[in-house]
Amino acid sequence: VLRGKLDALLALAEATDCRRVRLLQYFGESYGRLACQNCDNCLSPAPIWDATDAARKLLSTIYRVQQVSGISFGAGHIMDILRGKATDKVRQFGHEQLSTFGLGAEFSEAQLRAVLRQLIASGALHVDAERYHTLQLQDGARPILRGEQAVRLRADVAAPAARPRQRKAARGTTPAPAAASLDAAAQQRFADLKAWRGEVAREHNLPAYVIFHDATLAAIAERAPQSLAELQGISGIGASKLERYGDEVLRVARGAG
Ligand SMILES: [Zn+2]
Repeated sequence: VLRGKLDALLALAEATDCRRVRLLQYFGESYGRLACQNCDNCLSPAPIWDATDAARKLLSTIYRVQQVSGISFGAGHIMDILRGKATDKVRQFGHEQLSTFGLGAEFSEAQLRAVLRQLIASGALHVDAERYHTLQLQDGARPILRGEQAVRLRADVAAPAARPRQRKAARGTTPAPAAASLDAAAQQRFADLKAWRGEVAREHNLPAYVIFHDATLAAIAERAPQSLAELQGISGIGASKLERYGDEVLRVARGAG
């Protein structure tokens, strides 16, 4: 829920139209005029990036995966398809066959995330927090898909040269002290669990440690639990994490994926 609020505030910052109108919209009120003529966006309009093309490609990808697979997916997976990244998950669902696969290769992930935030804030998309933060099309998506409505972002917040993420990548390659004492098989489980956690974090747009700490993953890798009951005894796994991730963790720890 907090994440959703942060996203809504970010979307507000990235908007190109009147701040007052947006802010009142956010709180469910209407201003009664189109613009206040008094906020920074009204007084000195920022350079604009026309994100209509990116928005249409995102929306049609979300539409297609739902049609083909019958379920909804999160932002990470949708962006992978659009950017032409044939990940294991993309291949698993055959989504590299979609006509939108690779169609948005020119967009950075930062740009696409900014567009997604606008689409969510404007009611074209809904994030289902109960179902792994999957994205679902709303009525507001129709005029954009039909080409009747444009999507505009401030050029400075969605610039093609996105913030570098090297620091994060470098950190991922450092072995965690928690895993130092594991034997070879457990090391492999630990690596698999970390890869799985990275995917989940990206998909849900959350920091990895919010999913599980390294120490918890190391403990799982060491004990190689075979059942939810065995998993439950491990420190760092509460009831809600057990319910949300238990089956997936067991599958990964067994080496089945
Ligand atoms: Zn204004």
